Amino acid sequence: MLIWAITSTMRPALFLDRDGTINRDCPYCKSPEEISIYEDVYEPLRELSQRYYIIILTNQSGIARGYFSERDLEKMHNKIREAMAERGGRIDAIYVCPHMPGSGCQCRKPATGLLDKALHDFEIDRTQSFVIGDSDVDMEMAKRAGIKSIRIRNESGNERGDFYADDFYGVLRIVNGPASK
Ligand SMILES: [Mg+2]
Repeated sequence: MLIWAITSTMRPALFLDRDGTINRDCPYCKSPEEISIYEDVYEPLRELSQRYYIIILTNQSGIARGYFSERDLEKMHNKIREAMAERGGRIDAIYVCPHMPGSGCQCRKPATGLLDKALHDFEIDRTQSFVIGDSDVDMEMAKRAGIKSIRIRNESGNERGDFYADDFYGVLRIVNGPASK
């Protein structure tokens, strides 16, 4: 019984980048109105949230730069959470690096600090988990952590990732497909 209780909370995770992955890239955007979520995100994530933790990992140096506050960020993230919930999905957690590039922090991607925190906070089966993002830093972080990666929407760059998807319907096919096992 105890074993069942423990294993029942163990799930794989989808570690999602935010800008350029879930919503259209918006450099240093600071209000919910500027967050425009891609339509293809909703249905696949609704399905996947039944089997995976859905966790966002995002670099937001605009905080250290003084462009927006943590409260502004919270409002933007509430919008993302609420939009997802309205369409039957779920975001389990959002981890943010607020620091400047070159600050020496352990959390700015491609460092693995945000990912490590999530792995500490949730019981995650990392062997079946994926990092999903549109840029080199996301793919590099996945590589450092030994977690499978899916590059989305943007094929240019040096780090190709393990898979490529044009949108979240493509992500769904990869995650459900035999190639991912
Ligand atoms: Mg991005």
